[in-house]
Amino acid sequence: MQATASTVSRRLLGRLRDVMAGSGSVQDRLDQVVKLIAADMVAEVCSCYLMRAGEVLELFATEGLLKTAVHETRLRVGEGLVGDIAAHARPLALADAQSHPNFAYRPETGEEIFHSLVGVPIVRGGRVIGVLVVQNKSRRHYTEEEIETLETVAMVLAELVSSGELINRDELAPVDGNAVLPLRIEGARLTGGIGIGVAVMHEPRVVVQKLVSEDPEAEMVRLRDALRRMRHSLEQMFEAQDLAFGGEHREVLETYRMFAEDAGWKARITEAIHSGLTAEAAVQKVHEDTRVRMSQVSDPYLRERLHDLEDIANRLLQHLVRDDGRAALAELPESAVLVCRSLGPTELLDYDRRQIRGIVLEEGSPTMHVAILARALDIPMVGRIKDAVQKIEPLDPVVVDGDNGQVFVRPSDDIVDTFSATQRARAEKLAGYAATRELPSVTRCGQAVRMMLNAGLLADVPQLQATGADGIGLYRTEMPFMARSQLPDVPAQTNLYSKILDQSGGRPVVFRTLDVGSDKLLPYWHSAREDNPAMGWRSIRITLDRPAVLRTQLRALVKAGAGRELHVMFPMVAEVAELDRLRSILNMELVRHERRGGMPPERVRVGTMLEVPALAWQLPALLKRVDFISVGSNDLTQFLFAVDRGNPRIAERYDVLSPAMLNFLRWIAHESRKAGIPLSVCGEMAGRPLEAMALLGVGVRSLSMSATSIGPVKAMVRSLFLPALEDYMATLFSLPDHSVREYLRNFALDHGVQI
Ligand code: PEP
Ligand code: MG
Repeated sequence: MQATASTVSRRLLGRLRDVMAGSGSVQDRLDQVVKLIAADMVAEVCSCYLMRAGEVLELFATEGLLKTAVHETRLRVGEGLVGDIAAHARPLALADAQSHPNFAYRPETGEEIFHSLVGVPIVRGGRVIGVLVVQNKSRRHYTEEEIETLETVAMVLAELVSSGELINRDELAPVDGNAVLPLRIEGARLTGGIGIGVAVMHEPRVVVQKLVSEDPEAEMVRLRDALRRMRHSLEQMFEAQDLAFGGEHREVLETYRMFAEDAGWKARITEAIHSGLTAEAAVQKVHEDTRVRMSQVSDPYLRERLHDLEDIANRLLQHLVRDDGRAALAELPESAVLVCRSLGPTELLDYDRRQIRGIVLEEGSPTMHVAILARALDIPMVGRIKDAVQKIEPLDPVVVDGDNGQVFVRPSDDIVDTFSATQRARAEKLAGYAATRELPSVTRCGQAVRMMLNAGLLADVPQLQATGADGIGLYRTEMPFMARSQLPDVPAQTNLYSKILDQSGGRPVVFRTLDVGSDKLLPYWHSAREDNPAMGWRSIRITLDRPAVLRTQLRALVKAGAGRELHVMFPMVAEVAELDRLRSILNMELVRHERRGGMPPERVRVGTMLEVPALAWQLPALLKRVDFISVGSNDLTQFLFAVDRGNPRIAERYDVLSPAMLNFLRWIAHESRKAGIPLSVCGEMAGRPLEAMALLGVGVRSLSMSATSIGPVKAMVRSLFLPALEDYMATLFSLPDHSVREYLRNFALDHGVQI
């Protein structure tokens, strides 16, 4: 395999370096650069467009187009092919550019005689700052190597551009803070796909209807009552939130408490009430006054506090206008993009998912549960958009580009058109995958791979049919628990599990017992504060301590499984002794069921998740006691690397495609196979084609993933020749590298594996 650097034209880079180090103005040097590239790539045209304020791309230098167009031709991001490259931050190579739907003809450039085009984004610090384009008269196909060369050149060019001599550095900085201009904000990709809609705030601002009151005393009573209820709910939130997140949230909540207790704040509200306002109008007024004063403060710390104040005032208003103090769920327009500071899985389930086109979150990491849920619901989601709630106004048009982790606010029509086209292309691609539904999931060398579905809602079950999956490899039973206001009883659970089994048409369904705690909280279970909830009282640690809850669930599962095959899987098992205890509770329920004359399940198959590394050190004992094992790679990664999966700062610090993780998995696959116990992987990595390929390479033969991943992963399986991969991977296990991702990607590219 060739390294990337060797595919780059060294001669071209050498000459570029000379030009860049040479004398003359930056514009002169840029002119020379485009000339050099055109000559080296045997192209008639090479042009460089740079980003100006307002997300406009301006032609800065060209070899081959009319020189009079330089500094004249301008394209908005998303407009034309150049704008398309900038919007998607990805290269484009077309043998017949003019037939592309996005081609925008610019007569002043004289480009109509050039048929083929290849362009790449010029990126710096994760932002697109320009586009580099090469054009040819003939209809030619550009090779991967040429695109790579151009990308490398663009990287070098980014240095020249960012010197600040061509464009003022301020113009190159991300556009920010302006409420009316279009914005492009970069964040983290949490769920792929494109969502287009209008912004709906997850916590809608309260509109005060009644402004004036005759009776200040009555208003004071209302205010005191609302303050008391707000304090109480903050206490509760403080407890609950602490379970879900780390110290930062605690700090924020402490600040809230401080504001809520602030005597000056309360005194000003009281004064406003005595001047004749209703309690809610008084809160609103004091808040507006403070807002104006604070917006003039330049200290960023104090300005930050403005958000907190905003929140607390809003909360108090909610308590004043609604008895329960709960934010009413926003009325959703037909196509809504939910904008949230943070969002829990339960909160997402409160909304009508059919109307949610996308989600923008201020926090977030890909393996947090709300992201997993969004993926299951196929809702594009971008996280870590700083100050999203401030920058986006309700009803602003928004494009959520989950594939590239970016969000466009108040986008131009061109951006919307570009992404609508991408959305249509994606739908076509998915339709293409649907067409492979009936095709067997078998590698080119004849190895069958079991494709299973991850599900958590009854509505997911029809996906079995739609995707042609072999069964449900992970049914997260906690999802229905989280969506209710109280613990579901045995009949309610039996009813649900029976429906799932009925609808699965005889395909196996692996029910995982209640896995709550950490970031999956039940609204009706208030647990004590913990410093490390991910390693705390969660999952079977709770259900072993509260066996009644587990017994209720197992009773319902046994009833639902009467006369058919029942698969039960226990999560977060750390030692074999725990499995033994869990199993004996299951046996108790089986005996009870039969003693009462119930029809037993035809067969009960019991398995565990492997997500706590300690369990792997008891494999021989474990493998004698289970009928199957499923690796929960999300939690396993967090425990193997000691890295909190919900903490955005470090969640992606380590790679699942690292020698450590792959060695670990290879060994588990080897031992399971030796013992004849089926092994599958059901964490998020199983649903990503490249990661799934690596899993096959280490010996895993069953993968469980969300419905949208089945098509792409099956395409990978069907294009893979496993012996070649196994030989290749044998060279990777003892590497000292942080990650072997790039090696695997290159293997896939070289061997035509579809990733
Ligand atoms: C896992 O940990 O990989 C897993 C599948 O379980 P969950 O994501 O529900 O914790
Ligand atoms: Mg888990």
